[in-house]
Amino acid sequence: MRLSKYFLPTLKENPAEAQIVSHRLMLRAGMIRQTSAGIYTWLPLGFAVLRRIEQIVREEQEKAGAVELLMPTIQSADLWRETGRYDAYGPEMLRITDRHEREMLYGPTNEDMITDLFRQSVKSYRDLPLNLFHIQWKFRDEVRPRFGVMRGREFLMKDAYSFDVSAEAARRSYNRMFVSYLRTFERMGLTAIPMAAETGPIGGDLSHEFIILAETGESEVFLHSDLLALPAPGPEVSYDDDLAPVIRRWTDLYAATSDVHDAARFEAEVPEAKRMRARGIEVGQTFYFGTKYSKPMNAAVAMPDGTQAPIEGGSYGIGVSRLVGAIIEASHDDNGIVWPEPVAPFKVGLINLKSGDKDTDAACEDAYAKLTAAGVSVLYDDTDERAGGKFSNMDLIGLPWQLVIGPRGLKSGTVELKNRKSGERSEMTAEAALKKLTS
Ligand code: ATP
Ligand code: MG
Repeated sequence: MRLSKYFLPTLKENPAEAQIVSHRLMLRAGMIRQTSAGIYTWLPLGFAVLRRIEQIVREEQEKAGAVELLMPTIQSADLWRETGRYDAYGPEMLRITDRHEREMLYGPTNEDMITDLFRQSVKSYRDLPLNLFHIQWKFRDEVRPRFGVMRGREFLMKDAYSFDVSAEAARRSYNRMFVSYLRTFERMGLTAIPMAAETGPIGGDLSHEFIILAETGESEVFLHSDLLALPAPGPEVSYDDDLAPVIRRWTDLYAATSDVHDAARFEAEVPEAKRMRARGIEVGQTFYFGTKYSKPMNAAVAMPDGTQAPIEGGSYGIGVSRLVGAIIEASHDDNGIVWPEPVAPFKVGLINLKSGDKDTDAACEDAYAKLTAAGVSVLYDDTDERAGGKFSNMDLIGLPWQLVIGPRGLKSGTVELKNRKSGERSEMTAEAALKKLTS
């Protein structure tokens, strides 16, 4: 992509309305614009990151055996009446009346709708286990939308729903999602820690919030510090295995949100030197809720002995749009964003130090063409901006690599390659730089 043809409305000044660094940087880097409280337009750069995150989430869901579909954003109130949640949900639900005076709502979550789909379509134990997910916009009329996309009113969520014939089988489905979540967040360069949590309006009695530690986080958490050093289960752990012993490496170590925190247990189980009290950002939550939805909605399957069993369910959310902000909270410096490569909107920022200079233009065009042909995503700053402005802009938007080409270097046959994260710069031939970026 050539910057001269792109749409990247960056801001020089810090926007006054932004209280936390990710919000500030997303506005300054031209990633989002607010259209009304808690509702945002995703500008091209922000949208590119959102899509990369969404794709990682999708791939990891599919590896864990979940199947993608797409449910609508607008739902009928009738379904929510069947489960009793229409009245229970409260003012966070955006309620809409259509022209025929039918009560509708903008979905804050989809348990009711998917249980309805299930009961219409699945009749036998032979079709289970089943896990269906979608990545769809949600609306929750939050009392205090704030911190940009971290607590929006309209936000993108991945929500998966598991269906099983028994509590034991449902627990296996829960464990698959648990492992899948650890892998998903690790792929984005994040350390997300599963913590015992309250279930809230989703219900049920087993739940984990996946939390990234950050000073600006809204949740207060208590944990055993060894959890910070546990890597996600590697490829040697298969989804066909019994995932319980894996999972125990996390659940045996104390970690809880303040809602369910048990001070006496914390002190008894965690040595003093390992006790951590911190703040964090919830990027995902898993719930096992058993028959909470299947019983009122009569979602049952025929068992081998001919009896009908209500299905055992769980649901599993990931805050896809919140993750964009959360990743920035975890990865930035004084100059701007530092994207982990797997979620970066482009891998390389190509800086032309003297647009209009014949040799420099030619060298940049050559590098741009070769990188693009090799499948490397490049944002080429081909504008007339001063070099200083180009540098600070590139640092602000945080692409992992900067390839800097100017007349002076070209005279001695070199270009400069800068790593955004380490700040390390090295001079080398254009060929060597391209080789490094394409390897
Ligand atoms: P919170 O406690 O932050 O309000 P929640 O527990 O109500 O979130 P869930 O129902 O667990 O949210 O939704 C799944 C995920 O969706 C959350 O883990 C979070 O990452 C994301 N999410 C929830 N509410 C918002 C919001 N208002 N803006 C952005 N993301 C959100
Ligand atoms: Mg939650």
